[in-house]
Amino acid sequence: MADKWVYLFEEVDEAEKSVGGEWEGVRSLLGGKGANLAEMTRIGVPVPPGFTVTTQACNAYLAAGEQFPKGMWEQELAAMKRVEEQTGKMFGDPKNPLLVSCRSGAKFSMPGMMDTVLNIGLNDETAKGMVELTDDERFVYDAYRRLVQMFGSVVLGISDEAFEDSLDELKEERGITSDTDLTADDWKELTETFKKIVREHKGFDFPQDPYEQLKLATEAVFKSWNGRRARDYRNAAGIAHDLGTGVNIVTMIFGNMGWNSGTGVAFTRDPATGEQVLYGDYLLNAQGEDVVAGIRNTKKIDELEGDLPEAYAQFADICDKLEHHYREMQDVEFTIENGRLWMLQTRDGKRTAKAAIKIAVDMANEGLISRKEAVTRVKPSDVDTLLHPQFDLEAKQQAAAEGKRLAKGVNASPGAAVGMIAFDADLAEEWGKGGKDVIMVRPFTKPDDVHGMLAAKGILTSEGGATSHAAVVARQFGVPCVVGASDVSIDLERRQMTANGVVVKEGEWLSIDGTSGEAFVGQIPTVEPEFEEEIDLITLLSWADQFRRLEVWANADYPDDAARARGFGAQGIGLCRTEHMFFEEERLPIVQRMILAEDDQEREGALNELLPFQRSDFEGIFKAMDGLPVIIRLIDPPLHEFLPNERDVLEKVIEKRVKGETEGLAEQEKLLDAIESMHESNPMMGMRGVRLSIVMPGIVKMQVRAIFEAACNMAKQGVVVKPEVMIPLTGHVNELKVIQPQLVEIAKEVMAEKGVDVEYKFGTMIEIPRACVTADEVAGVAQFFSFGTNDLTQMTFGYSRDDAEARFLLDYVEKGVLPENPFQTIDRNGVGALMKMAVEKGRATRPDLEVGICGEHGGDPNSIEFCHLINQNYVSCSPFRVPVARLAAAHAAIKHK
Ligand code: ADP
Ligand code: MG
Ligand code: MG
Repeated sequence: MADKWVYLFEEVDEAEKSVGGEWEGVRSLLGGKGANLAEMTRIGVPVPPGFTVTTQACNAYLAAGEQFPKGMWEQELAAMKRVEEQTGKMFGDPKNPLLVSCRSGAKFSMPGMMDTVLNIGLNDETAKGMVELTDDERFVYDAYRRLVQMFGSVVLGISDEAFEDSLDELKEERGITSDTDLTADDWKELTETFKKIVREHKGFDFPQDPYEQLKLATEAVFKSWNGRRARDYRNAAGIAHDLGTGVNIVTMIFGNMGWNSGTGVAFTRDPATGEQVLYGDYLLNAQGEDVVAGIRNTKKIDELEGDLPEAYAQFADICDKLEHHYREMQDVEFTIENGRLWMLQTRDGKRTAKAAIKIAVDMANEGLISRKEAVTRVKPSDVDTLLHPQFDLEAKQQAAAEGKRLAKGVNASPGAAVGMIAFDADLAEEWGKGGKDVIMVRPFTKPDDVHGMLAAKGILTSEGGATSHAAVVARQFGVPCVVGASDVSIDLERRQMTANGVVVKEGEWLSIDGTSGEAFVGQIPTVEPEFEEEIDLITLLSWADQFRRLEVWANADYPDDAARARGFGAQGIGLCRTEHMFFEEERLPIVQRMILAEDDQEREGALNELLPFQRSDFEGIFKAMDGLPVIIRLIDPPLHEFLPNERDVLEKVIEKRVKGETEGLAEQEKLLDAIESMHESNPMMGMRGVRLSIVMPGIVKMQVRAIFEAACNMAKQGVVVKPEVMIPLTGHVNELKVIQPQLVEIAKEVMAEKGVDVEYKFGTMIEIPRACVTADEVAGVAQFFSFGTNDLTQMTFGYSRDDAEARFLLDYVEKGVLPENPFQTIDRNGVGALMKMAVEKGRATRPDLEVGICGEHGGDPNSIEFCHLINQNYVSCSPFRVPVARLAAAHAAIKHK
């Protein structure tokens, strides 16, 4: 029914029917807050009577140039009637007035939407009536001034400072510091002052008609959907702009009716660690925002058991019920009025990466969800975050000993962050976008600050607790964050802060530890976390392994890397770059001698010296990868990379000539000649890879000999070796036809010498578009393919990566010329299409052709999904990305079942 704009909380069945039975549809229609209030009502959790004006009404209102759609207001009035019946109170009735709150609520909870207005329905008359009823003038006028203040700032757009200033003035006049010391008369006076502020700012009176209040508040929620804050946030979080927001009208519950009342927020599990305990804060004799605002010192949720045992027991039961119902950790708001508990909100709780993993594993073990669900609930980015650097413990202790520890606050979002202090969001954003590492420091944050928080490496606030705005946003985006560091005193005007006797200015370095809640002046070095200690992650990944089809291999050049990769779960080495071995100190001179050799004999001599080095490197890697395949790539870069920089040598030569020094001059001149003779105008497209091997086969022959000597030696020791020799940069099958047989010959020769046979393959990198297009031919020679997607992307786009990224590529992405950086995520339509063609053509020739990827893309979840889709055998990535890739590969397999 398209013209039903309003649903009572008890009408969730109807809402569900109207969207075809899907819960996602209900959330779209009613917004997350409204849908969950209705759902709680349905399952018998105490929710105050109320109703939701739909997101469709919001969209219709905005589309019609800010006009309520036909029939909507009448339906809202009818719903109010029903709430009146349910509560036995009447809206605007001085004798027994019904008061409500007006709350925004989009499909996805997001900052920037209109703030909640409490106590709608109060006016001069109903206030008097409330006093008669409650016999508590102080309470009533506190509530009334809150309405005028909230309505004035939130609905009418008057700056909240106007109200806050006069509150402060009054307190100063009375010589008190706490709101609780204000009397009934004070609140009454303040209510009048607030009404005057409205009149002065708006030129009309604060609306006394409750229905006028309701109408204006409803409209204000609709309008807030298109406010700047909301739009900014949606852009940052990738939320669609056409969802609209719902409006929730909820009977007021008063947590400030005395010490038998209270209000709080809680998570059903610890959102920082994932531990299965209730986690949250509450205040007795307080209302709504008091807890999150951090005005009074909150109590820990378990203390409620002592304060109000019955309410606590009921609350714990409800939390349990909600978790079972939603099968997810919940983030709830509640209020207790005169001992009676009411739930005001529930939603899936935001959590840290660590908690996300623990909760998924625990819930699967508790039988709440399946293992497959557990696997899908954890994002690859969670795994990434968890394995992010932490501070080096010793360095941290040292810093503390040196008096550099400024403060300890609440550990709101874990991880180590180092950056320069920026005291406001705009500066944080400016610096962050300029490539600087920034720590944003504020007394507290507001929705307006989100752009700066997203650009910062870390966030520090001096006020607020674990559920404050800063904490919630930081956790959501995985930014390390410390809140409530009350020892830090921030002077925004002088752009500096003081803590522990130290004055720290804007732009100075700060290190914050979101895991422990500490902040230090200066830069503390970070270390990689220990994978072996992340038991929950290891469990989750072992489940993920049962769902994925793609194998995950790693790129590793050294035995240590290989061993680490294996520890992370790598099933092979997809790329071992031999040239790294050439750069080591004692080897480079030999390499240079080999390059500069004047005759074959000299060259062979140098190569023979290199061979034992290479052999021992390979032995180490084979040993570490016992039983698993190891792909070794033959030399790839142009030779000039191993020689000194041309300019440096030229300078030396000139210097010697000018000073008339003859010693060593001839040598340097010879070197300069050699470098000059090797000069290429575009070396990356010049003599390198297989081309170099064909022209100068000595190097690769030595390498293959080293590989097979190592393999045979290890095999003799009982290690199961599976060497795969990879020839880089093939563009034409004839290149392979020339070089590969020569190399196979050497392999056979070595095995004969050693009297051992090992399983081996010869294959090629696919990184030139021509190789993709002619992959059927290439696969006639190559036994395996490995995509070098970095070069393939460069050559497909015709971009030189370094030049592109330094000059125009990021701009391209920002302007939307390209949807994303193709060096980070595979360009499926272009580069990807070539890859797909290569797999299909290659397998047409050789059905058992092994295909993988060894470019950086092999660790990118989106690219991994693509590799799954084109039926590759494995992805190979840096050792630290292996856990991320294992999960991403499982997600791909589950999604494309
Ligand atoms: P937010 O999305 O910012 O959490 P909410 O609408 O949930 O906004 O409300 C802000 C605060 O006001 C919360 O603490 C909430 O529990 C409280 N609140 C909202 N409606 C009512 C009500 N009808 N009675 C009592 N407290 C309310
Ligand atoms: Mg809000
Ligand atoms: Mg809320």
